[in-house]
Amino acid sequence: MNDFSSMGLNEPIVSAIKKLGFKKPTEVQQKSIPLLIEKPKDIVSLAQTGTGKTAAFGLPILHHLNINSKTTQALIIAPTRELCLQITSELKKYSVNLKLNIVPVYGGSSIQEQSKSIRRGAEIIVATPGRILDMLKRKYVNISKIKFCVLDEADEMLNMGFYKDIKQILSNTPDSKKTWLFSATMPNEVSKIAEKFMKNPYRITVGEKNSTSTNVKHKSFFVNSRNRYNVLKLLIDSSPEIYAIIFCRTRRETQKICENLVEDGYNSGALHGDLSQNQRDLVMKSFRTKQIKILVATDVASRGIDVENITHIIHYKIPDEVEIYNHRSGRTGRASNTGLSIAFISSSDKQKIKRIENRLKIKIENSQLPDSKTIINSQINNYLKKIKDAKINSELETFFSSSENMLDEFSKSELLLKILSLKFDKKIVSPELNIEKNSKKNNEKDVRYKINLGIKDYYNWQNLKDFLTEIYSLHPGDIYNVDVQQSKSFFNSKQAHKKLIIEGIKNLDFNGRKISVTITNKRGQKDESSFSHRDQKKKRKSKKKYY
Ligand code: ADP
Ligand code: MG
Repeated sequence: MNDFSSMGLNEPIVSAIKKLGFKKPTEVQQKSIPLLIEKPKDIVSLAQTGTGKTAAFGLPILHHLNINSKTTQALIIAPTRELCLQITSELKKYSVNLKLNIVPVYGGSSIQEQSKSIRRGAEIIVATPGRILDMLKRKYVNISKIKFCVLDEADEMLNMGFYKDIKQILSNTPDSKKTWLFSATMPNEVSKIAEKFMKNPYRITVGEKNSTSTNVKHKSFFVNSRNRYNVLKLLIDSSPEIYAIIFCRTRRETQKICENLVEDGYNSGALHGDLSQNQRDLVMKSFRTKQIKILVATDVASRGIDVENITHIIHYKIPDEVEIYNHRSGRTGRASNTGLSIAFISSSDKQKIKRIENRLKIKIENSQLPDSKTIINSQINNYLKKIKDAKINSELETFFSSSENMLDEFSKSELLLKILSLKFDKKIVSPELNIEKNSKKNNEKDVRYKINLGIKDYYNWQNLKDFLTEIYSLHPGDIYNVDVQQSKSFFNSKQAHKKLIIEGIKNLDFNGRKISVTITNKRGQKDESSFSHRDQKKKRKSKKKYY
């Protein structure tokens, strides 16, 4: 018996689910579907990505829908266009046996076209907050009769600064509707929404995905800002079958790493909020079809995206929040596959790692990097095996006969070496990438500087670092632990650059003010990559700007 049928779902839905091969409801589905079918009321549900939330809210909606009415009966709000499309496509699969019009609406695409689809009668609308609000203002949609409103990935929407938009959208909905909120984490803002807009909701919490802890192996490598990128290349090189997502913290970094990888001959694409919707769609399509094997992404842009058979998740920078780590890692080891989650860490990240291990009850094994020799050997063997297994294209034979003697002067091993040299023309990464856990040496010769530029001059750690690197013509790794405050900032650099840093900026003028750099005794605590609180707040305020 199909477990879904015992939940009281209508037959056409059950048979569609069966055809999809869903054998057993997931935990969140078990906990919400029967409740929402029997007596729909508001719910707040805490569950990670990949736990099957779409069906958890989608199936009850489909069950309750009046398919003889063209009125919009359900509104699902999600943070990004990708997610809207993903939800729509899932819902369409669940409702193949029903005659329905499920319409996704999102920015970056013609509002007229979307409104046309809605005019044909959309029982369900799946929307990003900005676009639905725009459509409400233009009276292209009517959500005054909806029975259900779903807020999917609520934490992310609030992170992106959509609180006001959501409030406004909800004010266009009837009091009688049921609100279903889904979120991976429960920060205060989400609780606030629950309190303010929901009536005595059921609360559902789904434990960490069991599969994650068993199917995903967690590892960490010590890196520093100089060798981080090389370690990445080395890891990619050592895994010929890699199909990976590399998570970065900022859009800039995401773009930069991807560009470097492409330049270095790796099949890679970037996904972040600076790209147009079309570019993002294209990248995702290439990634899904494996034309791109390495996706470099920010957390927000890739939120909720579900791609099968990912072999590696690489935390290029480790996130501050445990949930984000869990979220990222959960993208691999799906179904019965195994996956690797690899964190690049510096010694200042040790606390974070401990916290993640404790909270998620996992072990993150600190590992040594494979040395270049092992990697190159395995790559050569792999390639030779490919040559060995290659099917001969008979069409080539006629062309080949006329040039067959051209390489007569070379021995077999010379020829092979030549072929391999063509294939491996990238610079071979040196094996000295392992760094010691507590190598004090790295910190000993640091000097901490204070500079009279800060947030009020529109700096954050990233663009201040860029500014300094540029003005001193230094390598980005030479300026670190940048901490930007209201009217001053701090940063570290090596003793060797002391003269340059103090003297090099002396006569510089910033809007009529002399820039001054002095040595300070304050110690930089943070990793160069960490945002200051202010940065984060600022980023939250500028909505939609930081994914
Ligand atoms: P979430 O929204 O929690 O991230 P989704 O709803 O997108 O998760 O589901 C993730 C994937 O799992 C989708 O590909 C979906 O088709 C599949 N899925 C959902 N429920 C089940 C189930 N009961 N059995 C098998 N696969 C499922
Ligand atoms: Mg989802």
